[in-house]
Amino acid sequence: MNRRLFLTGNWRTSGAAGGEAAIEIADACLARSGVACMACRDACPEDAIGFRPGPGRLFVPELADDLCTRCGRCITTCPVGAISLMPEHREAVHA
Ligand code: SF4
Ligand code: SF4
Repeated sequence: MNRRLFLTGNWRTSGAAGGEAAIEIADACLARSGVACMACRDACPEDAIGFRPGPGRLFVPELADDLCTRCGRCITTCPVGAISLMPEHREAVHA
């Protein structure tokens, strides 16, 4: 989901509150390139974003999905727009 959809509130109709969408962090994340940034962690009211050692001893953000309320604060805080709310993939149901 892009920022415009989030800021207009239209994302709520996608069923996010019901767990039908998930926060994703893309490779554009500054921390994945070695830049010191923890803005998303600092913005999260639920402490759902932590940092763990990644490749090359970089510390990269990691989401605790069970704590995330999809409030979107991390999306609007990220300076490079690396965080988005994406529909969760569901397995097809065959009758
Ligand atoms: S705020 Fe954005 S750039 Fe910074 S660590 Fe979080 S996802 Fe990466
Ligand atoms: S959507 Fe809200 S609760 Fe979830 S990680 Fe981002 S700031 Fe935290």
